[in-house]
Amino acid sequence: MMRLILLGPPGAGKGTQAVRLTKKFDIPQVSTGDMLREAREKKTLLGQEAESYMKEGTLVPDPIVIGIVKERLQEEDCHHGYILDGFPRSVAQAEALDTTLESMGHALTAVISIEVPEDKLLGRLLARKREDDNETVIRERLRVYAKQTEPLIDYYRSRDLVKIIDGVGSIEEIFEKIVKAIGMNSSGYSQVS
Ligand code: AMP
Repeated sequence: MMRLILLGPPGAGKGTQAVRLTKKFDIPQVSTGDMLREAREKKTLLGQEAESYMKEGTLVPDPIVIGIVKERLQEEDCHHGYILDGFPRSVAQAEALDTTLESMGHALTAVISIEVPEDKLLGRLLARKREDDNETVIRERLRVYAKQTEPLIDYYRSRDLVKIIDGVGSIEEIFEKIVKAIGMNSSGYSQVS
């Protein structure tokens, strides 16, 4: 059973690593960014509400995001674990997640924080060409990360869940570091020491 949180600024490679982790551990990626983009494309009420925040690079209000995550975690495929990618993004969201997990009798396995220097992030994000990746929005998203999301590292550190990963290197190298930090070797067995 593996319930992971992936933290890291935009452009740190959370999504890429999440996809690899889903394959390795056979658990779904729960990405609030992906779910919100899907809702926006389908023009659902929720998607319309989220749109202006996403365009600006600010956080979509907690009640919307917490609601979609709560529902998603009840789904069958999440019963054997999951990788939260892009959630929680604020202390209020982390507290809501704690309440939800507690009510489900679930405990977190680890919080992986992928760290990349800011000058590298800007270049990566500008190369990505997503709709919300113009320079003004990118700077706002980095600012929001530092202010609202980074405090979560301390929030979870007090529970000894945090694994800091140096996010500079090849996708494969970083993946190996994450797997090692979770305490599994690359064939999926728990390390003895
Ligand atoms: P991402 O793909 O995770 O970078 O998310 C893209 C955008 O979706 C963010 O800039 C936010 O506007 C919104 N978003 C994604 N996840 C969250 C969240 N947990 N809380 C609030 N807004 C979110």
